[in-house]
Amino acid sequence: MSKPASLYGVRVSPVVDVQEIPVPACPVCGSETARPRFEIEGMESRIVVCPRCGLGRFAPAPTAEQVRSYYPDEYYGSTGRKFEGVVESLVRIIAARQGRFLSRGLPGGGRVLDVGCGRGVLLRAFADRGYDVHGTEVSAAAAQGADPRATIHITSRLEDAALPGASFDQVVLWHVFEHLPDPRATVKEIHRLLKPGGKAVIAVPNFSSWQARWTGAGWFHLDPPRHLFQYPAETLRRLLEDNGFRCSSEHHFSLRQNPFGWVQSVLNRFSSLPRNGLYVLLHRSGSAEKPFTRPLRWLFRAAFLFGMPVAVVMSVIAATSRQGATVTVIATRLPTVGD
Ligand SMILES: [Zn+2]
Repeated sequence: MSKPASLYGVRVSPVVDVQEIPVPACPVCGSETARPRFEIEGMESRIVVCPRCGLGRFAPAPTAEQVRSYYPDEYYGSTGRKFEGVVESLVRIIAARQGRFLSRGLPGGGRVLDVGCGRGVLLRAFADRGYDVHGTEVSAAAAQGADPRATIHITSRLEDAALPGASFDQVVLWHVFEHLPDPRATVKEIHRLLKPGGKAVIAVPNFSSWQARWTGAGWFHLDPPRHLFQYPAETLRRLLEDNGFRCSSEHHFSLRQNPFGWVQSVLNRFSSLPRNGLYVLLHRSGSAEKPFTRPLRWLFRAAFLFGMPVAVVMSVIAATSRQGATVTVIATRLPTVGD
């Protein structure tokens, strides 16, 4: 395995041999075979795709210890900041918009849980709107700098946080669900935590989107090995509906994720360029040393400058066709017998 800090740079290539292989039962549809799709540099596991429901996952699945090693403290940035100044300001503006969007229909002063809240950017936006905010996070380092109004539980699994049942009006998993090792158990726990009629908000990269299908192994949001599962939008809906939810709406536009995904995924198609180089350049590396050579840095900046306007247009077209590179599914918790 290459060094965790350089995981963004690991090469991904398509698998030529597409014979189905035996795998543990699919957590969505139960299929016990899958088709290898992508190979990851330095990893024994490959990304395989379920022939029945389209779910992507690793075979063999990485161990809990391997998964922990994918998240060094540097992954989260320092002192509550993850990116360079301008990008950081944009992240905060976008979080405020998200907070406004996600609080539609939420009762005033309601309780919100953000699973995998990181440094609490979204929780702050909810707290600013008067909600009682709670978060869970795997890493204490990740939650550093979180808003003091938020109650943060440090726990390796949501199920271990021992939060009271039927106590939340909304549970948000914002680009977190694809990182979790047991999707069915997580959905059941969210169901337990929500009040009847409460909402689950799950945003994930959309494995059946145009961006995912057209850029293949170059797709930025594959993010191996941290994304343990790749969800087509319809597969995520099915998982929720099989476990006590009714999907009430679906949103395919994300200014924060989708346009950048186009630019970086297209750059990743050029094997002579370092994978995810633009992302690495924008990411605060924590050291004063700049990554890459000067011409390469200029190439990435030019790609960003000229690519982003086109990418925004592509993202709008994709979203209106329900083909967004990321998808947010909002699902209502149905009452169960005894509620
Ligand atoms: Zn399946």
